[in-house]
Amino acid sequence: MTVSRIRTEIDFSADGKQVGWAHLPHSVHESAYGVIAIPLAVIRNGEGPTILLMAGNHGDEYEGQVALAKLIRRLEPGQIRGRVIILPAANFPAAMAGRRTSPIDQGNLNRTFPGDPRGTPTWMLSHWIETVLMEMADIVVDLHSGGSSLDYIPICMTRRFEDAAVTEACVAAVQAFGARYAVLMDLIGEDRTTFAAATRTRNRIVVGTEMAGKGTVGIEALEIAETGVQRLLQHFGIWQGAPLVAMPTEPPTLLEVKGVEHYVYAPDAGVFESFVDLGARVVAGQPAGQVHFIDDPMRPPALAHFRGAGLVVCKRLPGRVVRGDCVFHLASEV
Ligand code: CA
Repeated sequence: MTVSRIRTEIDFSADGKQVGWAHLPHSVHESAYGVIAIPLAVIRNGEGPTILLMAGNHGDEYEGQVALAKLIRRLEPGQIRGRVIILPAANFPAAMAGRRTSPIDQGNLNRTFPGDPRGTPTWMLSHWIETVLMEMADIVVDLHSGGSSLDYIPICMTRRFEDAAVTEACVAAVQAFGARYAVLMDLIGEDRTTFAAATRTRNRIVVGTEMAGKGTVGIEALEIAETGVQRLLQHFGIWQGAPLVAMPTEPPTLLEVKGVEHYVYAPDAGVFESFVDLGARVVAGQPAGQVHFIDDPMRPPALAHFRGAGLVVCKRLPGRVVRGDCVFHLASEV
């Protein structure tokens, strides 16, 4: 069986504004015939491109969820041409719990693609998102932030496809989004379990973000998310009439995240003291920070080094670490 069991009363082919829920069957002790009701909006006006706007892929990443909830209240069919599908809290149980992963099945939605229509809720969700929503869309947008454990410089992201024309359209989209930095990730060889990787077989134009984080709603990050989404509607000709926000006048700095040399991990368990902040430019071999052993004060701290050069775009928040926690990641100019 490959057909999703997630159902909605929303008619994706109808013109107008429909705001409701998708219902994920969830038969449990407390609710024998229960469903999980996942907010969903479809705004359509005739023929034109379809854009899928998604947030809450990770439940504790709030800027995108707030930006899309605002857009659902604001956007009217008369303002657009084509179709806007909005899924503001994709992993809904995780979003309601304010957690990265689902409290029901511990699923990390962005590690469950292509999903499973007969799996637990998170696997059912990724399968539905890929086979139903992504299938209908020409452009897919996945708004992330750093969440509870990370802080990011606000960046827009896209992927490099085998098809150069798709890559070109993706780069044009992140340029239109208007964040100061845009990251071009290599889709070729990427782990198939992510939402972005699921676009590869379908050649969809994909735009993602990492907007601040810290488990809160950043003022600047929220504004970048809101204006960026509006600019995408304008860029793809979905928005009709006078632009609501000005398009960027200069292109973002294009960055790439390389392999392991762009990540720094805690070398031991303890308290991590970082030596640099977000936005710092570092060189290979530079000390990144050190882990202190508070229970053994005479023991020298364990040093961590940057293995590559680049810009510090992401930093871990909690001071306590265990070996294997990612404490920094870098990106470098293309
Ligand atoms: Ca995320």
